[in-house]
Amino acid sequence: MPTILVTNDDGIHAPGIHALWEAMQTLGTVVVAAPNTEKSAVGHAITIADPIRIESLNRTNGFQGYAVNGTPADCVKIAVQALMDSPPDVIVSGINMGSNTGNNVMYSGTVSAATEGTILNIPSVAFSLDALRKGEFTYAKKVAQKVATRVLEKGLPKGTLLNVNIPGISESDVKGLKITRQGNVFFKDRFERREDPRGRIYYWMTGSLEDPDTDPNMDGQAVADGFVSITPICYELTDDTMLKALQEWDLE
Ligand code: MN
Repeated sequence: MPTILVTNDDGIHAPGIHALWEAMQTLGTVVVAAPNTEKSAVGHAITIADPIRIESLNRTNGFQGYAVNGTPADCVKIAVQALMDSPPDVIVSGINMGSNTGNNVMYSGTVSAATEGTILNIPSVAFSLDALRKGEFTYAKKVAQKVATRVLEKGLPKGTLLNVNIPGISESDVKGLKITRQGNVFFKDRFERREDPRGRIYYWMTGSLEDPDTDPNMDGQAVADGFVSITPICYELTDDTMLKALQEWDLE
């Protein structure tokens, strides 16, 4: 029986991690370690100046997990290196409420948890549902089962994780599955300027997702077109073209 580590960034109380935990039950022995509160958009942050505390937490249908007062990357590190007897065969992160495509991959705690797994040499997959507030996870769970099964069979190359985005539409409307590239979806920031009860100004970041891509093989477009998008992602970020161009800069 394979061992599966389940984590997320929406926190251990989120509906998406319960769905992912449920989906993984048929595939192996499941261990859950997730932030005790929501840690969306913390990227790959880790905790080094504070203690990390862990509590056992129970939810419905036998869900038991480690609630960690840390980031998604902390959860993966501590689960693999301190809580589990041996490393898991696969790490799955999600199911995030909201897509993680384009530039948002850089901010995503969901993806960063999977990246941390990859750094630890464990095949890892991030799952996100393109829905906000009200998530319907039935179809996303099937996708997670299928992808995790294949990853357990085939493994993943060192340094590569899979970023899976599932459209937030009913299963009958889903057009299929596309292997995609990371595109250019970005969050167009807007800072709401407000005044607190003591007359001091503060700002609250808000905004909207924008997609400049038209290529249907980009992650954001594929999801918008009704496809499940699967993007292989490497955390090795060197730009090979610039590596060559930079030789000519005469920097010495
Ligand atoms: Mn999140």
